[in-house]
Formats: sequence, structure tokens, C-alpha cells
Amino acid sequence: NKQVIPFHEGNASMKALLGGKGANLAEMTRAQLPVPPGFTITTEACLAFFKVGNRLSEELLEQIASALGQLEKQKGQKFGEENNPLLVSVRSGSVTSMPGMMDTILNLGLNDVTVQGLAKLTNNERFAYDCYRRLMQMFGNVVLGIESIHFEHLLHRLKEKEGVEQDQEVTADGWKQLIVDYKRCIQAKAGRDFPQHVYEQLRMAVEAVFKSWNNPRARIYRKINRIPDEQGTAVNVQSMVFGNRGDNCGTGVVFTRNPSTGKNEFFGEYLINAQGEDVVAGVRTPLAIAELKSAMPEIYDQLYQVSKQLEKHYHDMQDIEFTVEDNKLYILQIRGGKRNAQAALKIAVDLVQEGFLSKQEAVGRIEVSHLEQLLHRGIEENAVKDVLATGLPASPGAAVGQLVFNADTAAEWSRTGKVIILARPETTPEDIHGVIASEGILTSRGGMTSHAAVVARGMGKPCVCGCEDIRIIPDEKRMLVGNRVIEEGEWITLDGASGRVIIGAMPLQEARMTEELLTVLKWADEIRTLKVRANADNPHDASIARQMGAEGIGLCRTEHMFFSPNRLPVVQRMILADDTRERKEALGQLLPMQQSDFEGMFEVMDGLPVTIRLLDPPLHEFLPNLEELQRKYDRLTYEGGSDLEKAEVAQLLRKVQTLHETNPMLGWRGCRLGIVYPEIYDMQIEAIFRAASRCIDRGFRVVPEIMIPLVGHANELKLLRELVDFVADQVLGKDKLHDCPYKVGTMIEVPRAALTARQIAAYADFFSFGTNDLTQMTFGYSRDDAEGKFLSHYIDQKLLPHNPFQVLDAEGVGQLIDLAVHAGKRVKPSLKTGICGEHGGDKESIFFCHQTGLDYVSCSPYRIPLARIAAAQAFI
Ligand code: ADP
Ligand code: MG
Ligand code: MG
Repeated sequence: NKQVIPFHEGNASMKALLGGKGANLAEMTRAQLPVPPGFTITTEACLAFFKVGNRLSEELLEQIASALGQLEKQKGQKFGEENNPLLVSVRSGSVTSMPGMMDTILNLGLNDVTVQGLAKLTNNERFAYDCYRRLMQMFGNVVLGIESIHFEHLLHRLKEKEGVEQDQEVTADGWKQLIVDYKRCIQAKAGRDFPQHVYEQLRMAVEAVFKSWNNPRARIYRKINRIPDEQGTAVNVQSMVFGNRGDNCGTGVVFTRNPSTGKNEFFGEYLINAQGEDVVAGVRTPLAIAELKSAMPEIYDQLYQVSKQLEKHYHDMQDIEFTVEDNKLYILQIRGGKRNAQAALKIAVDLVQEGFLSKQEAVGRIEVSHLEQLLHRGIEENAVKDVLATGLPASPGAAVGQLVFNADTAAEWSRTGKVIILARPETTPEDIHGVIASEGILTSRGGMTSHAAVVARGMGKPCVCGCEDIRIIPDEKRMLVGNRVIEEGEWITLDGASGRVIIGAMPLQEARMTEELLTVLKWADEIRTLKVRANADNPHDASIARQMGAEGIGLCRTEHMFFSPNRLPVVQRMILADDTRERKEALGQLLPMQQSDFEGMFEVMDGLPVTIRLLDPPLHEFLPNLEELQRKYDRLTYEGGSDLEKAEVAQLLRKVQTLHETNPMLGWRGCRLGIVYPEIYDMQIEAIFRAASRCIDRGFRVVPEIMIPLVGHANELKLLRELVDFVADQVLGKDKLHDCPYKVGTMIEVPRAALTARQIAAYADFFSFGTNDLTQMTFGYSRDDAEGKFLSHYIDQKLLPHNPFQVLDAEGVGQLIDLAVHAGKRVKPSLKTGICGEHGGDKESIFFCHQTGLDYVSCSPYRIPLARIAAAQAFI
């Protein structure tokens, strides 16, 4: 089969086979743009090469030789011939663009003989030897694996000897001398001579480009960008054109629009008398493309025309590599230009207005993950000097503050007006007041779905977690990185988008809801059918959610309302109560507090549904840590405390011990609490309906959806639903019931609930998939432990495609969701379905939710714009 394809036989749709660069070179050749002729060795050839242990097959070598023969005819030159030598470039070109990750060799076909021919032919000795030394350097580096620094050294020495600063000032004799030095260097470092045989050069170069697919930086790039290792790379062999042949030559890069603002203006740089990567390598300072207009007006015009033609053809902004030889323009590469988030939006909106794109296409093009740059504050990059360490980018945005190592101090300091960064080995729900008081959170342990990460994302606070290079020692009020010590009160900056921890207070850039973003969001809303709600636990977050376009609250976690410093003692009294009477007393105190929370939520969400989940976590989460308490007790015993104090601690200790569970996540939580202590749920339900009643009186429209967590058996829901209906009746009475169309539903987060959805649906008005727990229980992975321990190994070894706590496992967990949705709807067609786990803000997971026919996704307020666009893309 054909593994070598000439440019004039390919086209843009053959990207998988020809790689991006090859497919575009072919497409441009077809469009009769000035592309130097050549051919592409396919990705299939690359995979075959890997398969047989990195060897080029005889068949492939023959195909290459025959394509080269064709090229010789086309150019009227001969590869390796003295009088009129054909020179080629050997260029890597993967399917997904990986700029700068793999290798390219120029001027192949030069040797001691052909270099003289080239010199004679062009009547330019200096130029010919410049090409030759470039070839040796690139070949030496890419093929023979000699570090560039050795060649640069020799070049530097030569320039000193000649007393010049710029490469283009070096004389022909200088280059000849350098070539002697390079040959010696190659012999010394690689233990072999630079190959004089041109076919050997070509064979070795092709092998090297194939192998560069597996070099470490390419591997890392693929991993970060989720590019499959199985793609392989194509190789492009292209006849050379020369930008380094004199002052009517040059090379450069242009973008058809400005890649940092999106403005419709020509943007780029070029160098006169230069080759290949000179522009990006920074050997000389390139000139702005505007100057080409006066330097080479015809070339400039032609380039401008080509750029417009390409935009028209591809309906997108292009990045163009060009070379000018003897006042003639050649296009060497094009690709969709990389751009930042704001530029991407502006370009998409402009292209729609210019009639090149439909709204659907424009929305479909937005890179959802890039929007994070826009929706959060960022750091002024050029101010960054001292990066202390890098952890996981757990919650995007930048935060500046003074370092504090415990939650109480954070709360105290923030009351005095200080801005705080809270650093903890890890956070627990007890630290919540510290988290609220801080600008950003840093932890040394825990993954992307650890407590700190989830809470921070929910609040839209920057968070860097799992930063293992930092040792955080709260007791000593400092943290260590190697032998550096950073004390409480020092200023640091967190970059939650990159995971960097930076010493000092960096200047920040504000987040922007730009006009273009609003336009694209409006288009997305016209397209999508999946609704987007927010996870929000308080009126402040709810109002942010509304600004971001939320169509309701999909999850309001009532326990978060229990953690504030003035409520926690009451909550603890409720838990520690010895009998029901005492417990009811404490609950009585909590009732008005909860009620006012709910009133706030209902007012903000006026007319939109608010899903309120009744108390979910195990009670011990509200109590002091067992080990710490034990230590305190021991201290009191040995060092002698007052009897009263001792008795108090002892009592607390006993209670905490009784509530202690080996497996709290599978323990006494969720509706299991509500069933054993009905008075707790009773209070919460009463608070909800009292709040509803108040708000209705004030003229708001209230749509509460009461959600029972952790149901695994229909009987649980049946019982608790009766409780809700009973309390609603009592509080609202006949008249108000009419104005308060409440719903009762459940979270589906225990596999058994999904499996018995038919029975459960009989008592539910809605299902909300709690995919955090559902994932945890379906896989049998403890979320709090798995991430830091074995899960990363699983992902590294590709046993799992993604972290299932970040990207919904469609194959497994997804089946349960699918099953439950369909079984539930068969029993109750009006059943509403949604998802409220962390996955609600993840693009791939949103696609899954759309396909499965869920009614809505719910995610943290700051991810709502992303979710709106992803939901539209899922529809497209
Ligand atoms: P990358 O994928 O890293 O951009 P390329 O294959 O595009 O690498 O090669 C780098 C540069 O080498 C190009 O931008 C171009 O300037 C130069 N180059 C490649 N092929 C040729 C050629 N046939 N003639 C002249 N210059 C070339
Ligand atoms: Mg390139
Ligand atoms: Mg849950």
C-alpha cells in the first residue's frame, strides 16, 4: 500500500494519514499557492516503523526513492549531484499540532561535493557553506543526538575570532572553518563521521523524525494535552527554498489576525537574509511585519492576499510560515493559529459577522477549557520571579495574601482587614471558616477532588493542592521547601490555573465577562436543550450563579450552613444531646438560622427552582477530631487540669468515640441520619417551608425542590417523603400549598438506587445524580484516599482513561445513570433528572448528560458559562 504521497495528490481531509502539516501543504498545493513541491511519508509508515522495532522497510525505502525521483524531475535537479543538487527539508508533522515538540532538518543533500556545486550554481559561496554548516548542526543534533550547545560553542568562538556579532556577517572562509570544526565535533561526540552519502542522510533523518515522536518532551506534551500516543507522526520531505541567500530573501511568521487581542489585523515578524527557525530562535531581533510593507511591497501585498484567501478557505485565523527567495514568496506551513481565550471569542464573533461562520460553528469552536483564563483573575506574568513550588491546579484564578497556617488565625486576621492565604497539609470541613476568610487555599496533600479543591471551586476561590514539595507545619507556623523557610504573615501569590506558588504579592489582572463572551453565550443558549443550574449554598453564591446565567440551584448543601463559627456550637450541642428533648432544644435554635438562609436563597432565585439537600455528612464531621481530642485528654490527665475541664473533655471524647466510624462514607449519613433522628430533617423541612411562606408573602415566586440524600431503598424515600408532605401541609396550609409548587426527590448516588430506580421513582418527583458518591461506590474507590495513592498510577499506566472523579465514567457509572433515567421515566414520565456532582462542570461529562437525556447539569457558579457553551456544543 501507498505510504508515500506527493503533495499534489493529498488534501486537507487526509490529516490522520498525512499529519496536519502534510495535509495543509497538500491542500495549499491544490489551491495553487506557492508551496515548494515535496511528498509526505504517512503516519501509517510511522506506526509500521515502530512495529518492527524502529526499522524502515525495504518497500518504504523504495517508495521514498521513487517519490524523490519524481521530485527531481519536477525541480530539474538531482539529489546528490554536484552540478545542480536537489536539497530538501525533512519535517515532522503530527496529526494534532505539537508546536516545537519534534524535529526538522533543513538543507539535506549537501555534502563536501554538492556544497561546491551549490556555491557555483548560485555564485554565492558564503550562502552555500552557511547551508552546509546548518545541516551539520541540525543533523548532528536531531539525528546523532549531540547537544546543540557544543555547536553553538564552536559558532560563538568563530564569531569572536572573526570579530563579528551576527551570523550573516560571517565570511565564506569562516563557514568553511566552522565546518571543519563541526566535523571534528561530530566525530568526537558521536563516534562517526557526518554521512557524505545523501541517501544515507535522508534515511537517517526520516528514522530520527519518526523516533522523535517518542522523545520525552513530545511524550509529556501529549500527556498534558490528551493526545493519543497511537497517532504517530508523518514526515514531510520538501524541496528547499532559501531565505538566506541575500538581502532580497527572508523568512517569517504571520498570523492573519492578532492572536492576543483577536483584532482583524495582520500580525507577525520576519527577518531578512535568514533561514528556518532564526525568527523564533532569537539569534537576531525580528522586524514587525508592517515593515515588510516598505521593504518588499509586492511580497507584502501577495502575503496579505494569500492570508485572506486562506481565511476564506479555512474559515479561521491562520498561522503562516513563509520564506522569500530572490523576491519570490513561498508558503511553508499553515495551521489554525493558537490564540488566547479572549482572542478566540473575538475572532469567532467577527467571523460570524463577516459571514464566514454560522453561530453554531462559532460556538462549536470555542475551547471550553480556555475560558477559565477569562473567568478568573490572572497574574501579570512578567512580574513572576520566584516560583516556590508547583502543585495541582485545583481551582483556577489568582490570589494574593499573607500566609496563615490555621483556620482560626485566618478568620481572626481577616476580621482585622488583612487578606489571607490559608495553607494546610489538607483541609477538613472544620476549616471551612478559614477557607471563607481566605483569598486562596494551599494544601500539600490531596488531589483535584480533595475537600479543599471541591470547596474552593464551589466558592470560586483559587486553590493549589497536593503541593508535595512544600512541608506545611501548622504547629510551628511555617512551611518548608528544601531548606527555605516561609513564615506566617509572609506574602505569597497562588495561581490556581497553573498550580504555581509564588513568593511575594504579584500584580493581578481582573476577570472579564467581555462583550464577545456574552454574545457567544447568548448564541449557546439559543442552541442548547440541556439546562444549566448551579451548586450554591448561600445567597451570595446564588446571586453570582444568576449573574453567570444559572437557571436554578441544582444543589444547596445545607451542612455548609452549619459550619459558620456562630452556628457550629449549636450544631455540636444538637449532636451531643443525651435525649430527644435536649436535641429538639438545640434544633429550635437552628431553625430560624436555617430559615433565614433559605429566605435568602429563594429571594435571589425568585421564580427559579432551588434544590435543597437535607443534611448529608456523618455527624462526627461537626465534632472535633478524635485523635486531637484524645491527645488533649491525655495532656489534661498527665499535666493535671481542673476536674471540671477533664470531665467535659471526657464526655466529649466518649461521644466522639461512639460516633466514630471505620468507614464513615459508607456509614451513618444521609437519609440514614434523617430516619434515626427524624427531628433533624423535621427542623430543616420546617425551615424550608416557613421561608417559602415568608417569601410568598413578600411577593416572590418560590419553587423548592427538597432532596433526600443517599437513598438506596424505595422505603427510605417513601418514609421521608411522607414527612415532607406532612410538614408542608402543617406549615403552609391549604391556601399556600397552591402557591408553593414544591417537589420531593432524591439523589441517586448509591448503586442500588440506580438499579431500583423503578421502585424509587414511585415516590420521587426528580432524580439528581450525585456522581461523586456514585463514582466512589461504583468503582469502590474511596475518593479521599484513591487520588493521592493509587489512582495516579492507574492513569499513568493507562488502566483508566481519566480520573473518574473528574471525567464521568460513561462506560460504567454512565450505565447506571442511563438505566435509572429510563427506568424512572417509564414509571413517571414527568420525572425530572439532573446531575449535581463535580462532573456537572466538565465538558465530556456534560456531553454524556446531553446524550443520556438529562434535563439539567448543575455545577459551581463560576463554571456556568463553560457549561452553557459545552451544553450547546453537545447539541451540535
Ligand atoms: P516546526 O514543526 O517545528 O514548525 P517545520 O517543519 O515547520 O518545524 O520547520 C521549521 C522551519 O524550517 C520552517 O518554519 C521553515 O522556516 C523552515 N523550513 C522547513 N522546510 C523548508 C523548506 N523546504 N524550505 C525552506 N525552509 C524550510
Ligand atoms: Mg513550522
Ligand atoms: Mg453524596
